Amino acid sequence: TEYADISIKDLEQIAKSSFPLCMRHLFDKLKEDHHLKHGGRMQLGLFLKGVGLKLDDALTFWRAEFSQRVGVERFDKEYAYSIRHNYGKEGKRVDYSPYSCQKIISSSPGVGDHHGCPYRHFSEDNLRAALGKMGVNNQKIEDILDKVRNRHYQLACTLTFESVHGSSCDAGINHPNQYFIDSQKVLQ
Ligand code: SF4
Repeated sequence: TEYADISIKDLEQIAKSSFPLCMRHLFDKLKEDHHLKHGGRMQLGLFLKGVGLKLDDALTFWRAEFSQRVGVERFDKEYAYSIRHNYGKEGKRVDYSPYSCQKIISSSPGVGDHHGCPYRHFSEDNLRAALGKMGVNNQKIEDILDKVRNRHYQLACTLTFESVHGSSCDAGINHPNQYFIDSQKVLQ
């Protein structure tokens, strides 16, 4: 699917307004730590590609963060390859697709990993705090946690979408990039 191009300067803004919690968490951690482990780089990198970030901008964006931690040289040597790889410019030249909710929910993040689905992989306390930060009110947070306890993670994400946007999402959320597109539709 082709989407409108997104520039680096827009990322901060659209991350706040239109990223689902899984991607917002990765984005915030990247900004905070200037680093993400492999699983996080894949999950966020492919999502951003789907959002419309072009390869050159993706390299600039990741380099700006990682170089603060590992230096430009090490970034270019160790990390740039996998970003080009995500865009089908290296290796088998497959144009990799952004991950679906199902794939993200069934992943197994380890210690120090920030990928995965927060509804599935966060503790209840962390999820509560993250939802509060997104502006979800307490009553809604309880509804969302109820879905989580019943393992309805995508329904929990759908309720979050509806609460944050003040509009219904009848189709439900099944892909982070769908969340993004539906959000932009509501906001534009
Ligand atoms: Fe991301 Fe999907 Fe989980 Fe929502 S349900 S946080 S879009 S993986």
